[in-house]
Amino acid sequence: MQVDGRWLKHTLDFALSGGRLNLEDATALLEIPLGTEESRAIADAAHALALRQSRQGRIWTAIGVDYCPCPQNCSFCSFGSDWGIVQDSHEWTEEQVVDAAARFAAEGASWITIRTTQHYPLERVCSLARAMRERIPNCPTLVANVGEMSLEQAEMLYDAGYSVAYHVFRLREGTDTGIDAEERLRSLENIRRSRLGLAFLAEPIGPEHTAAEIAREMVRARDLGAVIMGAMARVPVPGTPKAHLGQIPEEKLARIIAVSRLIGGEVAQEICVHPPSDAAVAAGASAVVVETGAVPRDSEEIRKEWRGLTMAQAKQLLGRHYPSVAGA
Ligand code: SF4
Repeated sequence: MQVDGRWLKHTLDFALSGGRLNLEDATALLEIPLGTEESRAIADAAHALALRQSRQGRIWTAIGVDYCPCPQNCSFCSFGSDWGIVQDSHEWTEEQVVDAAARFAAEGASWITIRTTQHYPLERVCSLARAMRERIPNCPTLVANVGEMSLEQAEMLYDAGYSVAYHVFRLREGTDTGIDAEERLRSLENIRRSRLGLAFLAEPIGPEHTAAEIAREMVRARDLGAVIMGAMARVPVPGTPKAHLGQIPEEKLARIIAVSRLIGGEVAQEICVHPPSDAAVAAGASAVVVETGAVPRDSEEIRKEWRGLTMAQAKQLLGRHYPSVAGA
């Protein structure tokens, strides 16, 4: 395959007219040098597709419910018990979760994600959805970001009030994570077969990951029918085994977002970026994350918003690139 100006124009036109990019094309798009004219053309095409597909900017909120050491010891996660970062355990009460969710809803969140560690009981996750639906008028879309699940458990989450599951085949799953890769794929297939929609970001991306590895997860997400795609950079939490590798630059994450938008085509409604940046929202991200509670990218429980991104700031950021922002 000859990657030149003609190829780029043909590939971008193909994606903009609804074509499904394959792994080879996606990898080549990721490998085009940053800061070039070609790089700008990729971002512009992705943003044009985002304006057509998403039309509005949206805020994805997340509440980390439990803060505890996790025996799975994923090499990037501050909760890994072997890293000794998180030593005590506590969890938010139902009332605390519902209060935080109600605040996010009142401020215009499009999604409220309940995030737990791998072994948190699903019955409690279901009970949180019922409480939120009961207490929050016009409750935003509820998302479950929990451990592995059978088809029956996915249906149970749906019946409790969740519409979407955030579930991901992480980069180097089974090597850099303590989760069996096959088990992870089974959960993804169970979600695909259930009534839940799937949200699947390529993550957690570090400087060592190749373009092909990143592209593979984005194509996987699209092929599983993910309604929300996007990308998340790994945050180097001191004390985790991956911390010394550092973090990818904002421009690189923005390119990954642009390619994610182009791969997502007419399958993914929204593209989400984390951490947010102006460059990524200008390159096809239609959703940014505001989160609170237990955050696996930090060594302390967050009582307000992680790294200070407030709902108001998120709306401002999205408003610079979209004609309107949901909930604004
Ligand atoms: S990423 Fe999830 S499974 Fe892995 S250590 Fe953290 S909480 Fe546990």
